[in-house]
Amino acid sequence: MSDCILHQKYIKKALRKNLFPDNFTVSRYSFSPYMACGHGCAYCDGRAEKYYVVGDFDRDIVVRKNIENVLLKELSNLREKGPVTISSGVTDAYQPAEEQTELTRKCLEVLSYFDLPVNLLTKSDLIERDLDILSKIALSNNVSVFISLVHLDDRIRKIFEPYAASVESRLKLIGKLKNAGCSVGILAMPFLPFIGDSESHVRTLFTSALKEGADFIMPGYLTLRPGRQKDYYLTRIKEYFPQYLDDYRQMYSNNLQSGNPIKKYRDDFTQLSGEIVESMKFDTMVPHRVYGNSLHSSDELFVLLCQLKENYDRKGIETTRLSRSIHSYAKYIEKVKKELGRDIARNTEFLDKLIPDLCRTGKINTILKNEKLSFFISKIFLENKTFDFKTMNLV
Ligand code: SF4
Repeated sequence: MSDCILHQKYIKKALRKNLFPDNFTVSRYSFSPYMACGHGCAYCDGRAEKYYVVGDFDRDIVVRKNIENVLLKELSNLREKGPVTISSGVTDAYQPAEEQTELTRKCLEVLSYFDLPVNLLTKSDLIERDLDILSKIALSNNVSVFISLVHLDDRIRKIFEPYAASVESRLKLIGKLKNAGCSVGILAMPFLPFIGDSESHVRTLFTSALKEGADFIMPGYLTLRPGRQKDYYLTRIKEYFPQYLDDYRQMYSNNLQSGNPIKKYRDDFTQLSGEIVESMKFDTMVPHRVYGNSLHSSDELFVLLCQLKENYDRKGIETTRLSRSIHSYAKYIEKVKKELGRDIARNTEFLDKLIPDLCRTGKINTILKNEKLSFFISKIFLENKTFDFKTMNLV
């Protein structure tokens, strides 16, 4: 366990809210019981200055002491139901501090009380402690757990993720969570250049995760934002893989604020992972069958349209018309939501029925302005179909 110092903080606000579900975790709300992370991953984006984390990122952990009470109050006043994500890319809900504080567990109890779908991002097997409550939530709502895993060699894991769970326990976690009724995705990001991004390693990692029962795998390359994050990572490379130091310097020589590597690497990685995904046929986004029943129809359609666009973009298919439909739909929903009151029960019922009603009356086409797309959407919402992005078919 890392040698963390816990800084207690009392907060006034816990939930981050979005008008539309985010396309990555498919959630409307999110919060983190902690700031900074004792897992100490060498590549962690959270070290970047833009997140304003003060102190030593791996050791000075901010503990949001009263988060459970703030959450309770905020969820009581929610206008719309929707999935809630715990954690973010820059902190982990099951980092070592959680053993002591149990804040994440207390927050899960609150979410269970409000009967809300839950998403969790983690690199820790401490989540096993909460299988009882996760399985309880999963009885009536979707629970998606995103497990981060980028290497199969535990010696490499120890260098780059010193206080996270071992490779073996993370792989075993997939089956345990599935048995508890959760959906499980693998965040296969960031693959480490020169160390873990070869075709054979990427394929083997995907194969292992799928064998254990992963529902989807999201691959991604390493970003290094100039400043603390990049300096910290390169120091680790210098210590353990000095032979790659110059290659890394060259690959990230553009010092982009996004942390992106040079275009050639991005293109090569995208092509390689695209070819592997195509040949192995698995989902690289949260599948429709996973989130379909946990969103209002209005949110479900938004995510579907965005995922469709992402898929077409990846395949090089023209999406200008689809983008216009998304824009027009978003404007329509914004207007509808402005007119809704604060009554959660009324809002829930209205938003659940909204898209089937629009499909039934044909009004969906005046919003999407695309007959073929409207026909396809109507089949999903009127015939209870699910869209399979792997085969691009309705099932
Ligand atoms: S587990 Fe996630 S948030 Fe924590 S240090 Fe690692 S990458 Fe950062």
